[in-house]
Amino acid sequence: GNPENQETPAEKELRSPILCILGHVDTGKTSLLDKIRSTNVQGGEARGITQQIGASFVPVETIKEQTKGINEKLKVNFRLPGLLLIDTPGHESFNNLRSRGSGLCDLAILVIDIVHGIEKQTVESINLLRMRKTPFVVALNKVDRVYEWQKYVNLSMNEELKLQNRHTAQDFESRTNKIIAQLAEHELNAALYWRNSDYKKVVSLVPTSAVTGEGLGDLMLVVVQLMQKIMSEKVTYRNTLECTILEVKAIEGLGTTVDAVLVNGVLNEGDKIVVSGFGGPIVTTIRSLLTPPPLRETRVKTALIPNKSIRASMGVKIVAPGLEKAVAGTSLYVVGEDDDLEELKREAQKDVDSVLATDDTEEIGVTIQASTLGSLEAFSTFLKGEKIPVAFKAIGPVHKKHVMNAAIMANKDPKYAILLAFGVKVEESAMQTANELKITIMSEETIYLFVDRLKTYFGAIKEKLREQTANVCVWPCLLDVIKVFRQKDPILVGVRIKEGTLRIGTPLVLPDPNQQHVDIGVVQSIKLNEKDVNIAKKDDEVSISIDDSNTKTTFGRHFDDKKDWYSKISRDSIDALKEAWSDELTKQDKQLIVFMKGVFKIN
Ligand code: GDP
Repeated sequence: GNPENQETPAEKELRSPILCILGHVDTGKTSLLDKIRSTNVQGGEARGITQQIGASFVPVETIKEQTKGINEKLKVNFRLPGLLLIDTPGHESFNNLRSRGSGLCDLAILVIDIVHGIEKQTVESINLLRMRKTPFVVALNKVDRVYEWQKYVNLSMNEELKLQNRHTAQDFESRTNKIIAQLAEHELNAALYWRNSDYKKVVSLVPTSAVTGEGLGDLMLVVVQLMQKIMSEKVTYRNTLECTILEVKAIEGLGTTVDAVLVNGVLNEGDKIVVSGFGGPIVTTIRSLLTPPPLRETRVKTALIPNKSIRASMGVKIVAPGLEKAVAGTSLYVVGEDDDLEELKREAQKDVDSVLATDDTEEIGVTIQASTLGSLEAFSTFLKGEKIPVAFKAIGPVHKKHVMNAAIMANKDPKYAILLAFGVKVEESAMQTANELKITIMSEETIYLFVDRLKTYFGAIKEKLREQTANVCVWPCLLDVIKVFRQKDPILVGVRIKEGTLRIGTPLVLPDPNQQHVDIGVVQSIKLNEKDVNIAKKDDEVSISIDDSNTKTTFGRHFDDKKDWYSKISRDSIDALKEAWSDELTKQDKQLIVFMKGVFKIN
C-alpha cells in the first residue's frame, strides 16, 4: 500500500507543528518570517494568520490557497491544521523550546544566503539542530540575487528555473552545488527538494526570496509534506500537557509573567501549576492567559485579551503570582486532581538541576554563564565539543560571586581563570572584581563569536608556554649515524632519523645500560638536501652539526658512530612536552616516549 496513507489514520487529530527559523545573521530570517506572515494577511484578515504571544499561527486554508498553483504537481494532501511559527528567529528561542533536554521545536527552517553559502552561525545552527535531533529544511534565500534572475509568479521554483536564461541557471546550479558540497563537509546530505527522494536521510533545499516572495509556497509545501511524512506521530494531538517557558518578563501592571508555548494539551484560567525556579520549584495559580486580540489591523499595540482556556499549539502569556524566579527554557506542569504535588515539584526541579548539576563539570575548567536553561545547555554542549572543560556554570547576570568562582582557578590552572558570559549582563561590581583579580571576562551574544576569541586566548597561552619551556622540551628521537665528517668543534655527521623527529636545539646522548649516559652535544643545524631545516622527520637523511663545546666527552673515546644516538629525555622534558605540545604529539611520538623511558629508566 501507500505508506503515506497509513501513517496517520484520518481520525487522529494532528496539532500544529512548531516551526523555528535559524541561520546566520543577515541571511533573511526576519524577512522570510515577515513575508510568510504578510502574504498570508493579504489573503484576507479573517483567513489570515493569528498573532500569538511569541508565535504566529498560519492556518492550513491560507497555505492551501497560497500554494494552489504549485501544488498541482506536488499534490500534497493537507492534514495539519496549520503551522505555528515562532516569532523570534534565532538560537535563543530554539534553545528554550526544550523539555528535559529534548527539543520541542518540531521542524526548523535553516536559512542560507545562496550568495554567501555556509557561514559561522549556519554551522552553529546545524550543531544545535543535531543536538536536539530536530528535522529541518534549508531555505536557499536571496535567490533573486542570482545572476540576471527573472521573477515569475505562481510557479514552482523547479518550473521557474527552467524558464531562466542559461547563464542564470548555471549560476544557480554552481552556487547550489557549492552549498551542497559545504553541507557535505558537515556530514549532511542535501538536494534540491524536487530531486530529493529520501526525506529521512537527505535535507531538502528550497530556493526562496524573502523580497519577491518566490519560493515561499514551495517552502510551505515542503515543510508540510515533511511534517506529514515523517513526523505525524510527533504531531498527533495528545491531551498530555506539554508546555515550555520561552521568556520570563516583568510587565507593568501585571507583575512578572511568563511567555510560554503550549505544545500539547490544554491550559485553563485558575489551573494550579508548577514551574522550575532558581530557588526551587514554584507552585502558583494561573490568574490569566493572555493572547493578542484576534484581528490585528494595525501595528498599534492593542491590549492583550484574557482567555478562559487555551488549546495546543499556541503561544500564550501566563499571568500568575510568584513567577519572579521562573527559569526560561523549562517545562510548566499543571497539577491535576490525581497528581502528587511533591512529585511534580521534584520533576520540575530535576530539569533545572540536570543542566546546572555538577555531574558533568570538571575540577579544573572555565566558568560559564548564560541567560536561560536552554542556552546554557547549548553552550555547555558546544564547549564540550571544543574540549574546553567547564568547572562552574550558572544562569543569569554575572555577579561578583561568579567572578570569585573563576578566581579559584587562578591557583589551580591560571589559563582557566576566565568567565564566559553568553548573552548575559555583566554587573559593574563583577567587572571591578574581575579587574582587581585579573580575571578575563569574555562576553558575547552568540556562541560562534566565542570560537575565535577562545582560539586566540588559548593559542596565546600555549604560545607563551612553548616559549617558556623551549629549553626543557625534548622531542623523542632515534638516530642512525651514517657518516662522520668531523669529530669535534662542532661535530658534523650524516644521520638517518630512525624514529621520531629531530629538531634544532635537541640534546643528544648515547644511552648507557648502567645509566652512565654519554652526552654528545646539542643539535645546532640540520641540512636536508643541502637546505637548512628546523625539523627532520622519520626516514629523512640529513647532515647535522652538533655543538659539543659544553660537553666533556670525546668522539672515539666516550662514544662513536656504531650505536644509535638518542635525544636526551628526562621526566621534566616529557612533562613539559606533553603540556605544551599535546595537540602536536603523534601516536608514534607517544609510543617512542614509552620505549625511551624504558631505555633511560624514567618512571
Ligand atoms: P536576519 O538577520 O537573518 O533576520 O536577516 P534580515 O531578514 O534582517 O535580512 C537582512 C538583509 O537582507 C535585509 O537588508 C533584507 O532586506 C535582505 N534580504 C532578506 N531576504 C532577502 C532576499 O530574499 N533577497 C534579497 N535581495 N535581499 C534579502
